[in-house]
Amino acid sequence: MQYQITSFAFFLFFSVLGNLSLAQKHYIQCGLLIDGKSNTAMKEMTIIVEKNKITGVEKGFQEGGTDDRVIDLKDKTVMPGLMDMHVHIENETSKNRYMERFNMNEADIAFRSTIYAKRTLMAGFTTVRDLGGSGVNIAMRKAVDAGYIEGPRIYTSGKSIATTGGHADPTNGVKFDLMGDPGPKQGVINGTDEARKAVRQRYKNGADVIKITATGGVLSVAKDGQRPQFAEEEIRAIVETANDYGMITAAHAHGAEGMKRAVLAGITSIEHGTKMTEEVMDLMIEHGTYYVPTITAGKSVEELAKIPGYYPDIIVPKALEIGPMIQTTFSKAYKRGVKIAFGTDAGVFPHGENWKEFGYMVEVGMPAMEAIQSATSVAATMLQVEDKLGSIEVGKLADIVAVDGDPLKDIQVMEKVTFVMKDGRIFKNE
Ligand SMILES: [Zn+2]
Repeated sequence: MQYQITSFAFFLFFSVLGNLSLAQKHYIQCGLLIDGKSNTAMKEMTIIVEKNKITGVEKGFQEGGTDDRVIDLKDKTVMPGLMDMHVHIENETSKNRYMERFNMNEADIAFRSTIYAKRTLMAGFTTVRDLGGSGVNIAMRKAVDAGYIEGPRIYTSGKSIATTGGHADPTNGVKFDLMGDPGPKQGVINGTDEARKAVRQRYKNGADVIKITATGGVLSVAKDGQRPQFAEEEIRAIVETANDYGMITAAHAHGAEGMKRAVLAGITSIEHGTKMTEEVMDLMIEHGTYYVPTITAGKSVEELAKIPGYYPDIIVPKALEIGPMIQTTFSKAYKRGVKIAFGTDAGVFPHGENWKEFGYMVEVGMPAMEAIQSATSVAATMLQVEDKLGSIEVGKLADIVAVDGDPLKDIQVMEKVTFVMKDGRIFKNE
């Protein structure tokens, strides 16, 4: 009996030892390292990862001890996990998109969106800010966090906030008996009290950030694509309430007046910003407002609008006018000194093609290094998570990706993501 107890104790002791050795370190050997903050890339570096954190960044190719695992990325460029500040993880463009609100249940949306989440992660985007869907996006964040599905870290707005008939009013364009009168719960507000109620409802639902549609938009079944749709006091009520709950705010906006009201009301970021004037740019600089350009979405809607019958007729002229303008606006805003956080509007085009935005940014004057920083340290700062994400530094979470080739010489290599680690776990290593 005594012998049995002793051997059991030994068994326990060695099991614990075994588990300890499972907590091996990863030694990631990087041919070229872009850390997300410095303006120069470093050659021949090693990142040491322990559990889900970066515990060392050292010169040369290190290997650690016999229990440690070496990841050979000597012929790759390694950088922090990429962050897209404007996606719609629940859906994706298709000819049938406008029928989906009548024939898809939330469960249908949820199962399908798992594909989009996985594709986004495999493209090297380890963090996204999701700016609007049915509310399934909140459940999706929980499922990713719990490890039920593979996807990026999600910071979601739940359902966007609009005014009656505004860009994100979910009943636009349907027959009167289906229109009803959606209120703050469904994100349709009129007046400051409803504005506050909509924010508080989103907080209660589990949203992380708040999104409003400050002006008309391209893809809603409505005539106007750019005029203001909120009174400044309504936006102010939303921003102040969101700030009370520690949530940042984003405003979709194509026309200058809507942008101006949002900036003056203290919004965190302007999305698309198509017809941004120099006055608005200067206001944004003064207020520290970020610009999230979504050039890829602009290019994509312009192309798709040329396919007969792809979009409802009312959308086509808006897509053809607004789509091609965003890249030029981005170029002007960047040169004037507006802070740029990387964002694509993925979902308006296929998820996983988020990398295209880098090419469009560099094409009109932003250096590749700055474009990568806009998708790493700048995005992390805007999201207020710069203490844990956005750079390769000791103490940060181990969100690390690698591409084939040198993006500083050819930005198009951002398509060729060969390695993805999120929270210390490897999801891709080709
Ligand atoms: Zn969007």
